[in-house]
This record gives sequence, structure tokens and C-alpha cells, in this order.
Amino acid sequence: MEYAIVAPDVPGLDASGLHYRIPASLSGRALPGARVVVPLLSREVTGVILGLDRHCPVAVARELLRVLDDEPVYREGLLAVGRTVSRHYAAPLATVLRAMLPAEVRYRGHTVYALAGDRSPPEARELSPAASRILETLSDHQFMTQKELARDHPVKDLSRLVALGLIERKTFFPAPARAGRLLQVELAVPTDRAREAAQQDAGRAPRRSEWLRRLVAAGGRLPAAGMPKTVRDRLSQQGLVRTVDVEVKRRPAPGMHEPADVPTLTGEQELVLRSLGDHHRCSPGVTLLHGVTGSGKTEIYLRWVGQVLQHGRQAIVLVPEIGLTPQILGRFQQRFGDQVAVLHSGLSAGERYDEWRRIQGGEARVIVGARSAVFAPVEHLGAIIVDEEHEYSYKQEEAPRYHAREVAVMRGRAEKAPVILGSATPALETYTRALTGEYQLLTLSRRVDGGDLPPVTVVDLRSELKDGNRSMFSRQLAHALEATVHRGARAMLFLNRRGFHSFVLCRECGLVVRCPQCAVSLTAHRQGRALWCHYCDYRQRTPDVCPGCGSRQIKGLGAGTERVEQEVHQRLPGARVLRMDRDTTGRAGAHQKLLEEFRSTPAAVLVGTQMIAKGLDIPGVELVGVALADTALHFPDFRSAERTFQLISQVGGRSGRGGPGSVLVQTYHPQHYAIQAAAAHDYQGFYRQELAWRKQADFPPFTHLVHLVFSSSGEAEAERAARRAVDRGLHPKVRVLGPSPAPLYRLHGLYRWQVLLSGSDRGEVLEVAGTMQKVQPGPRVRVTLDADPISMM
Ligand SMILES: [Zn+2]
Ligand SMILES: [Zn+2]
Repeated sequence: MEYAIVAPDVPGLDASGLHYRIPASLSGRALPGARVVVPLLSREVTGVILGLDRHCPVAVARELLRVLDDEPVYREGLLAVGRTVSRHYAAPLATVLRAMLPAEVRYRGHTVYALAGDRSPPEARELSPAASRILETLSDHQFMTQKELARDHPVKDLSRLVALGLIERKTFFPAPARAGRLLQVELAVPTDRAREAAQQDAGRAPRRSEWLRRLVAAGGRLPAAGMPKTVRDRLSQQGLVRTVDVEVKRRPAPGMHEPADVPTLTGEQELVLRSLGDHHRCSPGVTLLHGVTGSGKTEIYLRWVGQVLQHGRQAIVLVPEIGLTPQILGRFQQRFGDQVAVLHSGLSAGERYDEWRRIQGGEARVIVGARSAVFAPVEHLGAIIVDEEHEYSYKQEEAPRYHAREVAVMRGRAEKAPVILGSATPALETYTRALTGEYQLLTLSRRVDGGDLPPVTVVDLRSELKDGNRSMFSRQLAHALEATVHRGARAMLFLNRRGFHSFVLCRECGLVVRCPQCAVSLTAHRQGRALWCHYCDYRQRTPDVCPGCGSRQIKGLGAGTERVEQEVHQRLPGARVLRMDRDTTGRAGAHQKLLEEFRSTPAAVLVGTQMIAKGLDIPGVELVGVALADTALHFPDFRSAERTFQLISQVGGRSGRGGPGSVLVQTYHPQHYAIQAAAAHDYQGFYRQELAWRKQADFPPFTHLVHLVFSSSGEAEAERAARRAVDRGLHPKVRVLGPSPAPLYRLHGLYRWQVLLSGSDRGEVLEVAGTMQKVQPGPRVRVTLDADPISMM
């Protein structure tokens, strides 16, 4: 007897696998990694076979009902990665397995009803008229969904009929998104024979003859839609053609495809590439490629992937947000053409399904994608590259809360594939591992164009204020901007805050207009003169008088990108001003269009949020201005200094590519080490100071953190649940901070209390967190557990 160990797809079910008996009829197809239907209590649910077993730990095992996949969708390596991720982030295995597949490939169960096979209906008088009608309706169908039936019939009658044994309730799992199909006409005879027939028919039936010739010319196959039906019928009667139903792949817009010149490597690049090869030939491990902005990291990735393909293997390339980094995708498509598949949330459901199938089938050999592409079902994994590994968007902010960079390392280890992490500003955790020798460290210290990194000037906004300049532009920035535009050159202005004013304040009573759902101030947007909540999207009109005291002295404060845009317009009426933030890039392709316009317009100024800091390679940007470097500095987050350093370095790095460049950073904290180090292009200097502080404050990389949030619509419930959890979760070696109200105390109408756990032993911290999570929080309280949190708002 053989058993399948199945992880049922039930969110939150904390089971490492249940044993099910494999009936003889399914024995060949019940393989590890295949999805199945199993009974669980009184339900039928889907699940994944984790493994097979000759023994069964329980007395009576229930039977596997169906196997859904002809071929297992989870390859063996991925199953192992799923288990590791589940342990590492204390996330239920079912939740992890679910996140590994795109939504289009998942099965969803529908409740359906059918007449019970062997029962004859009782006398009509025993049933209510409503119940009789249900039986009548069902007798015309094999089965009907609850949704269909509930339109016309009360659900209680359905349940009664089930109780009487007259109808059955089942779960039906329709096939997920279907492949695109196309009817095609293909030759049923060898080409020579078709040519002959075309010649014979040329006189009598010129149309048929012409179509035969076209078929031969097209390689034997044409879409059926193009061929007149009479021609097709006649040709198939003659036995010359047949109609076939072929699966076609819907491809996302292929982008730039013309092959570009392959650049010559610099000496430094050659060296890096050689070290990569030497290192990974003996034992595939992890390499941190620390390269300054503009040092040609992408070319290293391209060459390395080229080598991987030559060895008959596949590569996964992760990029932070593919919509924001079209350039790197374009370069992979130029180099590797149709072998590239793209996986990200911007694709249509059909495109994502087909790209996933192209990967699964081994057709696609280079997978470029966002975070979840780390789970792409490649069979012969030869490398994983994580570009801009420091980016926060690699962290998934809903369960399972994994970090794609860390999963890449886990997967590389499981499948013995080298992993390359690339960045100009590596995450502190990554750089520490490189220094301790856990990762190989390779450095690109010079730009490929031979130019220097742009000089950075720090402008002290306090002295501007002292000198009576109340404008958001220091005199230096105003002059530099003017000079740049007059030269016909381009400039970028960075401010990590969208909208016009970041809040609205009454000068009489001090009231700040807040979101009724969330504990945050509303942001003023020019569009519709409205106030928006950036967390829940609540909107209201900007009030003319204070809602608290009725005063007219109500005023917007704190500038956002809209305000910067307006100011540049007023100062430089002749310049073309473009703005790039979440509000101007909502529509598909808007981001790309803005970039193209900026690239092709002389004397243009691009104003934007962190979107403009990411990987843009636009020649001829002579000035980058950071309007206010301090926005991230005061976040209640231990990474605020690191974030500030990264943003200034990254946005500054857009300047002076292929020409002169300079950077101006405005700040109220010119002495802060993050700003000083960014201005000096001194990563090591920043790293040393930040690391010393992290050690003193007991933060990562010296400790492991777990963030627990208790949220509820009831203020007292949330607090009580958090306090009870802390009381139960005491451990001598795990530090507990809190419970305390979360920085975002109210969000979407829920009150939030938080607990932060830290300790040097990951296992101990996770164990305590698990205990706290399991303490009965009360019916209206939700507990979320985030291991290695990035955002702790
Ligand atoms: Zn007021
Ligand atoms: Zn809100």
C-alpha cells in the first residue's frame, strides 16, 4: 500500500502533511509536486503531494480523490524551497505553496449540487413547492453551482434537500485559466505531393491551388480563419489538409528586440567576470557584486547569463519593480530574444499564464521578473541574479512575508546554482555577510564611461532660512537649475513625497485634517482640490474653513512633488517640466512615455519621487537636486539612516552619465553621517558608522526581528490581545519591545498594537513569536507575524 503525504491548500492550516491512501487507479499520477483533491473533515479541498510513503502513521487513512495535474507543477527543488521558506518565515506551508504559483494557475473550488443518484423523489406532497422546483431545475443539469441555484432558490431549501439525501453537495474544481487556442489548417501530405496537387488544380480550381501553394510556402500550417471554408472543406475531402487545434502563447509586448552592439568590457568588468567563473566552478555560492552607479553591472549579468545558457541551463533575473525598470528588461530581450520570459503583476492574466507555461515547458530560458519570479518553475537552474538587492520591494508585505533576495539564496543552495546580488548601495545585512566571507565580494569601483562619480554639494537649509529665504529652493539650487536649463541640459529634482502639501493645518487651533479611517494626516492634491489618504485612498474636498473652530486660517504645509513642479514652472517658464510619481504613472505605459519625453527633450526638468531613483540610465542629466534629504530620516524605523543613504546615492547616481554632472542635496541635517557619507560616495564609511550603531542598539544584522501586529475594530480588544500575548511569551534570551500602539495606530478603521521581538538566535525568536501568535486573541482580533520586517508602521 502506498500513501501520499499531502499539504492541503487551506490557509492557516498548520500541518506539515497528512497521509492519504492512493487508489490503484491514481497510482501512476500521484507524484510529489502534483496537485490533488482530498477529503478534509466534511469538505473536499485541493492540496499538494509533498512526498510518498509506504507507511501510514494513523490507523485509518482516507483516500485521495483526484489528481489534478498531468505533470507535477511543483518541481522537487521548489518543494524543498517551499519548506525552507515556511520554516524561515514561520509561515504555514500551505500559504507558501500557494504564493509560489501565479493566481491564474491555481484551482478554486466551487460548491455544486446534483441530484442524488439512487434516490427516487418522495411523494410530491412531502416537499414544499420551493424544494420541488429545485429538484425539477436540477433534473435538467448534471450539476449546478450554489451561485446559480441561489439566484432563484432559498439556500435553506437546498440544505434541507441535502439532509433528506435527495441532492448531493460536492466541490467542483474547474480547470484554471485556459491556454489560448487557435484552429489551424495543416498539410496532411508531404510537401512534394502538395505541390503536385497545386499544379494539377491550377487550371480547374485556381483558388484551391493558390491556397495549397501558400500552405507550402508557410511551412505547412496557416490559421484556419484566413482560408475560405469552401476551400478548406474541399481540400480536406481530398485528404490534402486537416484542421488542427493548436495551443498558442499570448506574449507580452516584446519591447526592444533589435540586437544591440555588445559593448567591450572594461578591465574591471573582465576581472569580475573571471572571478565569478572561477568561484562558481568549484562550488556555487553567493556573490555580492558591489558596483558604483554606472559601473556596468547589467553587462556582467548579461555575460554571466550567456555562459549559463551555453551550459544548457536556465537563469532567473529578479528586478525590483519591472514597470519602473524597463531598461534592464529591454537589454535582456535584445541579447537573448525569444528565450526571455517576463513575470510580473503588470501582465494580463492570459499573458502571465502563458509565460508561466513557457517556463514550465522549458521553452523560456531566461526569466526576468519581480519578486515572485524567484519561484519560477525552471528545471535546470543555472543562476539567480538579484538586481538592486537592497530594494524594499523584494519584501512581500502580505503572508507569506518572504524576502525574495533571501529566498533566492535558499533556492540557489537547494538547487546548487550560483546567486549574484548586485547593488551600488548593498543592504547592511548583505554587506556584512560578504565581509565575513559567507558571500564572495566583487567590486566595480569605476564607471564604464571612464567618468568620475558626480560631485555632491550639501546645502544647509537652516542657513537659508536664517538669511530670509523661505522658498523650498536654496539660492544654490535655484542658480544651478537655471544654469542647467539655459545650457539646454536636463535636470532631475527628487522629493520623496507626492501631492502638493503633505498636510493641512489650522493656525488658530492647531488642528491637522486627518483620515477618518487611519491615524494619518491627509495629503493635499491639486487635482480636484482634494485631500487624500495615502494609506486607504479616502478622499474629501479641501475645506475652506477649519472643521474644528471655523477659522479661515487653514493652510497647507510641507511640499510634495506637485508643489515642486509648480515652483519650477514659475521660476523657469521656458523649461519643459515633467513629473513622475504614483499619480502620473497609473496608466499602463505612462511611465515609459514620460521617460522617453524626458530623454528626447532638451532643457527638461524631471520632478519625481523615489521612482526616478531606480536604475534609470539617461545620458545628459547634468544636475540632480534632492529637494529635501530628510524625509526618510525621521521615520520611526531602524533603517531610516540606511534608507536615506541609499536614496541620495541612487538618485545622485543618475547624474553625469556620459558627460558632466553634479548633485545638490538640501537638508536641515547637513552633519548627519548618512548625508555626509552619501555626499562623499563613501559606502564603507557609512557602513562602519551604521554598523556600530546597530550593534549598540541591538538591531540586525546582530539580531533577528519579528514584528507582531494585533489589529481590531475594537480599541480595547487589540490592546488586550497584545498584552495577553506578551504575558505568555516570556523567554530569557528574547527581548520583547512593547506592547505599544503601532506608529500607524489606526489603519483602514482598525486599531493596531504591536510587539517587536529580537534575539540572536532566530529559532528562539520565532518560537516565542509563534507562542504569542497562538494565544487566543479573541474573535475580533487579527494577528500578523512578520519575520525580518522591513516596514514596521
Ligand atoms: Zn481651527
Ligand atoms: Zn486612510
